[in-house]
Amino acid sequence: MEQQTAPDCPYLSVVIPVFNEEENLAELHARLATTLNAMSYAWEVIYVDDGSRDRSWKLLEGIQQADGHVRLVRFNRNYGQHMAVFAGFERVRGQVVATLDADLQNPPEDVPKLVAKLEEGYDVVGGWRQFRQDSWLRTFPSMIVNRITSRVVGVDLKDYGCMLRAYRREVVQAMNECQETSSFIPALANTYASQVVEIPVGHAERQGGRSKYGPLQLLRLQFDLMTGFSVLPIQFVSFVGSLVALVGLAFGCFLFIRRLIVGPEVEGVFTLFAILFVFVGLQILGVGLIGEYVGRIYREVRRRPRFVIRETRD
Ligand code: UDP
Ligand code: MG
Repeated sequence: MEQQTAPDCPYLSVVIPVFNEEENLAELHARLATTLNAMSYAWEVIYVDDGSRDRSWKLLEGIQQADGHVRLVRFNRNYGQHMAVFAGFERVRGQVVATLDADLQNPPEDVPKLVAKLEEGYDVVGGWRQFRQDSWLRTFPSMIVNRITSRVVGVDLKDYGCMLRAYRREVVQAMNECQETSSFIPALANTYASQVVEIPVGHAERQGGRSKYGPLQLLRLQFDLMTGFSVLPIQFVSFVGSLVALVGLAFGCFLFIRRLIVGPEVEGVFTLFAILFVFVGLQILGVGLIGEYVGRIYREVRRRPRFVIRETRD
């Protein structure tokens, strides 16, 4: 399935997911090519068209005709940013692999910085959007998620959401072995890397077009992240569940003894109701979490293809 046609063997492969980015592609490629042509190493860029419905694919074809560094993959429909990056990962030939967004929020000029850092002996170099140009509605939840993910994955990073990153080929190969359909690449990479570092990178406002992530997609992504990498959420629920059950038991004993001493009391009914609600709430939460895991197991055991490629151009 791999292509062996291209004459040169690049050192750096850049993977860029593209979904309806017609406004940004020309400038993106111009800036990327200028930056990388100034470097001494051979490079390639793989644009993965994630089922764009605008002129993105046409533009990409034009870009490829003008520049031999460009390789293209096209999905038959939209499978999501992370799947697009995986499709690119399956085709990379470089020793070093970098990813970035197509909307020019990640400056292409920062790619050589990541590569240089990787050469110091790291397996993964993450970009950290020090001055992030997004609304607080995006940055605040993302801060919490970064904390939790750092704990869950066991690698402390300030910015798990940044897709401007560089990986050693071996890490990418390990990720290619993973066939799960819901995955979050920065977290997955860290499970295979021993030396991870984060460096500050630039961040701009989206150049053209709109963000492809609404609140619902973001929530789904967080769930992928949380349940895809640990059983911690469910363990936490079990823990709280047993704690509440113990308290309930103690309270029951207390009420029983009180009844023997004081006699029956009607006021207690409402307290019991309150306790009941706590229990019911916890149970629903627990069932929901179990459902989340079961749903994921179900999805994995079906072993459906993660994406379908309509065409590739090398
Ligand atoms: N993207 C994609 N498929 C999708 C959604 C996004 O390939 O279903 C690409 C998009 O073209 C961009 C990158 O992923 O290159 C990041 O998307 P976006 O800028 O919309 O996300 P945000 O910056 O708002 O988090
Ligand atoms: Mg963006």
